[in-house]
Amino acid sequence: MRGKRSKQYRKLMQQYGLSFGFREPYQVLIDSDIIRDADRFKMDLVGGLERTLHGQVKPMITQCSMRHLYAASSETGVSYLIDKAKTYERRRCGHRPEDYPEPLSSQDCLSSVVDPKDNKTNKNCYVVASQELEVRKQMRRIMGVPLVYINRSVMIMEPMAGATSDNRDREERGKFRAGLKRGSGSLKRKREDGEEGGKEEGTDGGGSGLKKKKKSGKGPKEPNPLAVKKSKKKQSEQGDLLAREGGKEPSTLDAEESSGRRKRRRKTKPGMGDHDGTNEAVQVVDDH
Ligand SMILES: [Zn+2]
Repeated sequence: MRGKRSKQYRKLMQQYGLSFGFREPYQVLIDSDIIRDADRFKMDLVGGLERTLHGQVKPMITQCSMRHLYAASSETGVSYLIDKAKTYERRRCGHRPEDYPEPLSSQDCLSSVVDPKDNKTNKNCYVVASQELEVRKQMRRIMGVPLVYINRSVMIMEPMAGATSDNRDREERGKFRAGLKRGSGSLKRKREDGEEGGKEEGTDGGGSGLKKKKKSGKGPKEPNPLAVKKSKKKQSEQGDLLAREGGKEPSTLDAEESSGRRKRRRKTKPGMGDHDGTNEAVQVVDDH
């Protein structure tokens, strides 16, 4: 039974580590009651916490909890516990005797330490070890607070509180969904990229009517590459043209040299691109 519970607690602390960033040494806020109960059951409190939490522990006690012990100092054995508690790290809760003639209750003090902004988060990753049911009840409403108490000389760690485990479930479901997305990511991302590309074009066109008009104005020009493709069928003709053009280019230089010939070349030049035009030009020249 002990082994089974030990395994459960180790798993639980792993979950707190993964979900809320708990790390060793675990900061454990200890209230005065659990110090006294541990003593009553002859338990090693810090050793028990380390076995329960499966890791190094940094015991901490608030000023108010310390004052609770001082208030009971007349009771037998308590002065010894005060000395013991003095070895724990004092957590300055800020509830000074000047401002608070009476120490705050464990519930009020610990919740102000664990969740000072009252936004239901345990930012500093405290573990709370308290014998008071009301304290633990309140801590369960705060996200990610491991709770420990002593029940008849057995140290118990509560299962993850509803709010906490809900959060964890939500996170895991989120991760699961993210994993699913990642799984089919390559395909979907490509599709999304494609969609985005399409959208971009669409928004460019749809964003302003002018742009769209411009594009549509450009549209008719875009078929030109297709026309070029078609003309590839006439590549032999084009080749001829190019060859002729190649032949002409040096001759245009010649034209510049001799003004007499320039006239003829100029007439041929506009027709260069157009196959038929050159013929006409040549004919015109012939007529001259
Ligand atoms: Zn306090």
